[in-house]
Amino acid sequence: MNKQIIHKKLVVLGAGESGVGTALLGKSKGYDVFVSDFGKITPKYVSKLKKAKIDFESQQHSEEKILSADIVVKSPGIPDKAPIVQSLLKLKTPVISEIEFANNYTNATIVGITGSNGKTTTTLLTADLLSKALPNVLAAGNIGDSFAEAVLTSTTETYVLELSSFQLDGVVNFAPKIAIITNLSPDHLDRYAYDYQKYIASKFNIIKKQTAEDYFIYDADDSDIVEYLKTTPIKSQSFPFSLTQELKQGTYIKDNQIVMKNNNIEEVLISTDKLSLQGKHNTKNAMAAATVAKLLGIRKQTIRESLSSFQGVPHRLENVQKVRNVNYINDSKATNVNATYYALEAVKASIVWIVGGVDKGNDYSQLYALVRGKVKAIICLGEDNSKIIEAFQNCAETITETKSMEAAVKIADTIAEESDTVLLSPCCASFDLFKNYEDRGDQFKKAVRQL
Ligand code: ADP
Repeated sequence: MNKQIIHKKLVVLGAGESGVGTALLGKSKGYDVFVSDFGKITPKYVSKLKKAKIDFESQQHSEEKILSADIVVKSPGIPDKAPIVQSLLKLKTPVISEIEFANNYTNATIVGITGSNGKTTTTLLTADLLSKALPNVLAAGNIGDSFAEAVLTSTTETYVLELSSFQLDGVVNFAPKIAIITNLSPDHLDRYAYDYQKYIASKFNIIKKQTAEDYFIYDADDSDIVEYLKTTPIKSQSFPFSLTQELKQGTYIKDNQIVMKNNNIEEVLISTDKLSLQGKHNTKNAMAAATVAKLLGIRKQTIRESLSSFQGVPHRLENVQKVRNVNYINDSKATNVNATYYALEAVKASIVWIVGGVDKGNDYSQLYALVRGKVKAIICLGEDNSKIIEAFQNCAETITETKSMEAAVKIADTIAEESDTVLLSPCCASFDLFKNYEDRGDQFKKAVRQL
């Protein structure tokens, strides 16, 4: 597809990674492009826009210019309720996402990955696996380069796209060859009128336009996914995965091996003890990635090589180091209950748990049994720890509070005994005390190395 558009007006709202990528791609396809950001555009993106001679504005929205657009691409961070978006919708101007826009300009095979947790890990694992067998594989989307910029600058033949629900909100015809929903749990509900069903529906946009030639991979043990599918017809071919049940078609565990059944033929892909990433959640991520690989005709040997050597992604159950025979694990990216559940589940030792931050409406009761069984001490690290203290006061011997990572790690060092694990798995967002989850994880690693 190489549609050349002459003098149609494309307005891009938001000048971050996604917006600037869209602007560059739009310009190369012949659009008159105008970029508008209500916030301050960072120098990196200002210089990209200037270099490409693209008209833009920062810290304002010039209504007249924006409302004259033929088409608008809205960056994922901008909610529909933003007044400028509301004005465009009243005018019936098409407002789409970068993913929809960029999809018009590539014929590459697309693997699209969404879900509440595990997107980045599964995306990078899948890209690693596919790139061992296929030429020009690229992970993009919500990770690395924007999809739009990648479409403009690369010769990619297979994209593995990490897709957030916000990116999927504005898709119309986008249909990945292979779609994955890793799992569902409530998140970002402020953007969905506090309606979990709306968030779920947004995730399911990933399969809306798939056809019988396409594939849909999902967690068959996830009750929210299974419930939704009861009332939603799927056109694509389903290849679910499960840790607990044998499936008629799909990927599951049998005698400690990951097997895939397709056309009634069962094939062993890899034994679970060979997987390099620990924890049940990572076994699921590996099953999803392996299913993609098989559907794209990749050999079992290559699947084994990748799944047994992939080193994981920083800040996701990342082994930092051992200090005096205590293991330190950085799971700073765990910003919700579901992610922390799997972290607590994955650690086999007795745990000193560093938790806290900005609570997004968590229901901690799902963690009680694990905390009672494994956690010896809780160190709260947040501006306001009252909800966590209330929730867990009867679950662990010790609960303390601090507001600095350095102090949290020092306290952990005094409590932890030989063979214990100190786990940072905050269950909360980071922006009360840190710039972002990377900053939180980096500060943790630094403090551990200074012990
Ligand atoms: P996302 O990109 O969806 O945020 P990540 O791969 O960055 O997902 O992982 C985020 C957090 O969720 C980490 O704490 C990680 O250990 C945990 N996690 C990874 N995969 C899964 C999964 N399949 N189910 C639940 N939690 C997961």
